[in-house]
Amino acid sequence: MKRIIQGLHEFQTNYFNTHRDLFELLSQGQHPRVLFITCSDSRIDPNLITQTEPGEMFIIRNAGNIIPPYGATNGGEGAAVEYAVHALAVQDIIVCGHSHCGAMKGLLKIDKLADEMPTVYQWLKHAEATRRIMKEHYQDYEGEQLLNAAIEENVLTQLENLRTYPVIQSRLKSGQIQLHAWVYEIETGQVLEYNPTTGKYMAPQAMFSRAAWITPEQQERIYKGSHKS
Ligand SMILES: [Zn+2]
Repeated sequence: MKRIIQGLHEFQTNYFNTHRDLFELLSQGQHPRVLFITCSDSRIDPNLITQTEPGEMFIIRNAGNIIPPYGATNGGEGAAVEYAVHALAVQDIIVCGHSHCGAMKGLLKIDKLADEMPTVYQWLKHAEATRRIMKEHYQDYEGEQLLNAAIEENVLTQLENLRTYPVIQSRLKSGQIQLHAWVYEIETGQVLEYNPTTGKYMAPQAMFSRAAWITPEQQERIYKGSHKS
């Protein structure tokens, strides 16, 4: 805890002082363009890996970067999604999974969790589609290969869950919002984005959200058939 208090002091005397104008502006309101959804894992720092400043990204974090489908729970995730899309009018939603994800390891051994961590067990039910896809389509995978595939599939599952929100459906229809599936690799710092055309994760600069080669409607249609089958 001492380390945290020291950091707080350092922030106030150094960073804050050199960014006073920014914080003064932010005190008047927030206008983030992006909703960033990622895991609670301590090894991920959304602002660090995207080199963004306070105010640029609305962020939701939880175990396994999971968004329960619309109406499935009365939890904070749905409220944060609705607020970001309706009130803040974010233009892009990024779901960012990551390598070595403990939540995805748990999902692959879900039966063991029921007894030891019943709350995690219940939570991971919102990733049931991921578990089922892994079970039925990745029988020949094991170890790290299986985990990495689960991490990738889960990000796509969560995009499907996001699409169950009426507020997102409506903005997808009018092309006002785009959904992105990312996976961050801790050991290399690399981020790959799912490319619905190739069905593979690729470097994100190859498919910027505003790229002219694909319309939001096309993207939505392709994304709908995105799971490996
Ligand atoms: Zn994780």
